[in-house]
This record gives sequence, structure tokens and C-alpha cells, in this order.
Amino acid sequence: MTFAERLARVSSSQTQQVALATQRLQREGIDVVDLGAGEPDFDTPVHIRTAAIDAINAGFTKYTPNAGISELKESICRRYSADYDVTYEANEVIVCAGGKQALFNVAMALFNRGDEIITHAPVWPTIVEQIRLAGSEPVIVRTYPEDGFAVTAERVLSAVTPRTRAIVLNSPGNPTGALIAEEELAVIVEETETAGIWLVLDLCYEQLIYEDVSHNLPAIVFGAAGDRTVLVGSTSKSYAMTGWRCGWALGPRAFVEAANTVQSHVTSNVSSITQHASVAALAGSQHCVEEMRTEYRTRRDRLIEWLAKESRIRVVPPAGAFYLFPDISELLSPTGIRTSAEFASRLLEDAHVALTPGEAFDAPGFLRLSYATSVNRLKIGADRIQQFVTAIGTE
Ligand code: PLP
Repeated sequence: MTFAERLARVSSSQTQQVALATQRLQREGIDVVDLGAGEPDFDTPVHIRTAAIDAINAGFTKYTPNAGISELKESICRRYSADYDVTYEANEVIVCAGGKQALFNVAMALFNRGDEIITHAPVWPTIVEQIRLAGSEPVIVRTYPEDGFAVTAERVLSAVTPRTRAIVLNSPGNPTGALIAEEELAVIVEETETAGIWLVLDLCYEQLIYEDVSHNLPAIVFGAAGDRTVLVGSTSKSYAMTGWRCGWALGPRAFVEAANTVQSHVTSNVSSITQHASVAALAGSQHCVEEMRTEYRTRRDRLIEWLAKESRIRVVPPAGAFYLFPDISELLSPTGIRTSAEFASRLLEDAHVALTPGEAFDAPGFLRLSYATSVNRLKIGADRIQQFVTAIGTE
């Protein structure tokens, strides 16, 4: 069977493969500690669920405007105004089926065949694959644990060529949890002005930052490059709403119209019920976000502490998101476990801990552990990892 040529350039999701292997073991009745999931373990807060039920009962079950209901677009604008002091109008917002569709709309609306699109690795694979689906070339800027996976302006700008169409930045980053510094972004904004390079900021983990650092990236781009910037956000991670599928893109009006054209021929509007629930999420009390953030911070700190007992698992404490991304290259050898992918699959089969190998993020030699699971389960997972590492040391 042959498929469209564009698919030859795209890889399927490796995180999905881990999930399938985990499910297989679970079906056999094995207790797997799942540190693979890229989603909150919390239930969606009750006031959000209630808003959805109310929406159904009030008959909000029909098509809505493609780009979203006004109430939601206005709630998004108000959230960004309150959080970042930037002023977007409702016609500068499109509501999409998750941040993922928002990013896909960006790729379809802005990227041409042959364009170069710069992004940074370790990378959330969807960013790269969407660039390829658009027929463009991903240009990957490496970041390193030695300096906290810092995305520096110098590294990004050194990748710019006359073919560069856009720079896609993700902060807090998946899988590293690293933040892009405001000063670095400011330099990128300034140095890309003449060439008019588009800046796309994936801020889907923006509410999950555990350190007391200023991270107002929207304000950095808004004044100086608002006419060539797209901000992407989502209710998925902030409000434990992954299954509801609500995200958005904020950008110049002409871009929003173009994204709207794409979306109108793909999915049309996001579920009317989800949109009403998302209004409750964004316009309601943000106390639930604070509570979840506090819990994630505790989990992060405990997991780091437990893993620190094994000096060959080298963790850079992440400032945001809900992943640790340790370097385990010291545990690999040509005569033992050779790659992080092999490590992850042996860990799953022998010690029943699921996590994602660095290969999935273009970063072999690393592992991604999600701490979006309870402290108790994390402790069991950390103990199993410890025992597994001790056991392979004697192989
Ligand atoms: N951006 C990053 C870096 C992510 O990790 C994810 C989800 O895992 C998303 C965007 C999109 O999430 P959603 O489509 O659920 O909003």
C-alpha cells in the first residue's frame, strides 16, 4: 500500500509506543508504575465540570463560530492581560482543539515548502513532525544539561539563514522543563526584525512554573514583534483538561483569519461544551491551578531527592512543566544496555516502570519521567528504578 509522499517524512509517536507496551503489561495484571504519561493525573476541577454540564442542559450543543465563542475568546484575552499585561482583541484569537491543533494551524498557515523553521532540542516531537507535514525543513538547535538546557539567542541566531521563515520556541519546555530567559528572547526579537522572521511561542505549560523567576515572554514579543508573533496556549495542562481539547493561538488578525480558513476545513469549532467549560476555567478562580502547581512542586522535589541516591542518574532540576529529564549515559555501555531506548524497554519489562526514552525527543542518552502521578506511586517508581540500576550493574 502506498501513502501520500508527505508521510514518508514523518515519524509516528514514540510516546504512543510506550503507552501500548504499558497497556499490554497491565492487561496481564502487572502493576506498572506509569511515569510515561504527558498529562495531569488530577481530575478536572469541579467548577469546570459543572459548567460543561450546565452548557449541555442549556442546549449549547450546536456548531459555534469556527474560531470560538466570543465569551471564550474574551476570557483568553483577559487571562493574558491579567497574567502578562498584554492586550489582545477577540479577533486576534482562534480557539483550537488543543495547543496541538493551534500549532498545526500555524504550520499550515505560515510554513512553505522549502522554508527552514528553527526549533530547539530536546524537543516535543510534534513540533518537528508538523514542520515536516507542512513541507518545511526543521532546523534543530541543540541545548545541553550543563547549562540547564538553556535556549540562548546566540545558538538560535547562528541557525538563521535566508531561508528561515519562523522560530518555534517552547517554554516551559517538554521534555526538559527548562524556561527560555526573557533577555534571550528579547535579543532574538531584535535580531530577527529586519528579516521579518515569525516567532511562535508554545506556552502550553505556562501555568506550571515552580521557581520564582519572571517569565513574561508575551510582553517581550507583544510590543516589539506583535505583528509576527503567535502565542500558543491550552487548558490541557493548567486545568487538567487534556481530554477536553481546548487550546488557542493569539496573533495578528490576518494570521488568525488564515488559521481560521485552515481550521474551517478540518475540524470547524472546538466542542461547544468544552468551550463553555473553558470559560469557567479561564475566567473563574485560579486557586485550583495554584493547588496543582504546589503539588507538582512537591513531587518534583521528592523525585529529584530520591533519584539523587544514584549518582549516575544526573538530573537538572527543571523550572517548569511536569517532567524530569535525566542524563543516564553513564549507565549505558557497549557490552550492557546500549541505549536509553533499550534501558526504557528493559526497565518496563523487568522492573515495571514505564517512562519515555530520550530518543523520542531527539535526545538519546536521556529519559523522560513524568511526575504527574501521586507521591506514593513516584516513590515506588523511584525504588524500582534504583533496584533495576543496582541489578544491571552486576550483569
Ligand atoms: N506543546 C507541548 C510542548 C506539549 O507537550 C503538548 C502536549 O503534550 C502540547 C503543546 C499540546 O497539548 P494539547 O494539544 O493537549 O493542548
